[in-house]
Amino acid sequence: MLLVRPPRQPCAILDRQGIPNRETNGATPLIEGIDEQGMNGKGRFRIIARDMATMARRGVLHTRRGPVQTPAFMPVGTQATVKSLTPEEVRATGSEIVLANTYHLFLRPGLEVLETVGGLHAFMGWDGPILTDSGGFQVYSLAQLRDVTERGVRFRSHIDGSLRELTPEIVIELQMLFGSDVLMPLDDVVGFSESDERQQEAMARTHRWLQRSLHRFQELTAAFAEEKRPLLFGIVQGGFDPSRRVESAHFVASLPVDGLAIGGLSVGEPKDLLYAMLDATAGELPDDRPRYLMGVGAPDDLWRAVAYGIDLFDCVLPTRLARHGALFTPTGRVDITGARFRLHTSPVDETCDCYTCRRFSAAYLHHLFRARELLGYRLATIHNVRFLQRQMETMRRAIEEGTFAAHMERFLSSYEASTALTSSDRLVNG
Ligand SMILES: [Zn+2]
Repeated sequence: MLLVRPPRQPCAILDRQGIPNRETNGATPLIEGIDEQGMNGKGRFRIIARDMATMARRGVLHTRRGPVQTPAFMPVGTQATVKSLTPEEVRATGSEIVLANTYHLFLRPGLEVLETVGGLHAFMGWDGPILTDSGGFQVYSLAQLRDVTERGVRFRSHIDGSLRELTPEIVIELQMLFGSDVLMPLDDVVGFSESDERQQEAMARTHRWLQRSLHRFQELTAAFAEEKRPLLFGIVQGGFDPSRRVESAHFVASLPVDGLAIGGLSVGEPKDLLYAMLDATAGELPDDRPRYLMGVGAPDDLWRAVAYGIDLFDCVLPTRLARHGALFTPTGRVDITGARFRLHTSPVDETCDCYTCRRFSAAYLHHLFRARELLGYRLATIHNVRFLQRQMETMRRAIEEGTFAAHMERFLSSYEASTALTSSDRLVNG
């Protein structure tokens, strides 16, 4: 059996990882008239403005590799790359933090490669903050022959069929070795259609695993200076039962985790159920730490979830849709391969300032997709990620100016009028 063993010296690599001197803790200018009481005890998350009409908040998350302005969208770099983009192109979209997947990187290229090259940042050429997902969702969605026990999860790799094991402790050790700036604990993820009993079991196990994860994380980071310490978030589970969601939110918030993630949503449930769970959960989370809604990233969902007080998002939606020729515009999503773009000499989104829209017509994009030229996928990805980052910029500015609700209404009335909700909106996995 090819079960992974915890590395003997899990911290051996950490001292070698040069952390770029980009920290600007405290350098972000405070906005006049804003709430300065929002800083948590560790000083890593600061709320600098609040919307009066909704629960939306404007904050800054201070990671050891620099600040992240929130609300923020994190592009997904599943395989240590935001598909088809260079780090410079990712940065140019306005992205400050990217997500990578522990499960995928653990299986390929594997620990030996990442340790040899000096960690994930050096490997992928990204010197900004990286949040690593724990692998709980990928084990649930990709792995074969999954066997979940109290110890952890055993599964067969979807790449080569080898038998592997992830435990809460191993998952923390892996992310520390990767050099992640925000770590996620292993969670027991269950699908929308699972029984009530299994949902209850998964929540309770996720809570016990979080305690083990936190214990291991505290051991491994005990000697770190506070400004060099990575962050660990907890994940709220509870399936689709509002009372369980509340119970899980209270439990996770009771622990000294640095952020509060809402997991187990966007797993195939109807959209109104996602919002019902968000409604049940969001108000139960304490105000002092960042809130991260995992796997949600459709433009309309971002606006609505920010109104619930969510600060962080990730989703493969913008990049995956781009590769299928589906581009975001203020009046809804369009299919660039459609005949109406054949002679469309304007950019696909005339309001957009991205490289693609500044340089090329929709007719050219249409041609590239029709001809299946690689540049088409890249240009569409640049546009979609920039589109979401422009939404986040608009939201942040609107919260500061007290106009969030009006901006949200304006965006949704324009965007949703022409966007049919399709199953592809529920894409969650990298
Ligand atoms: Zn654009």
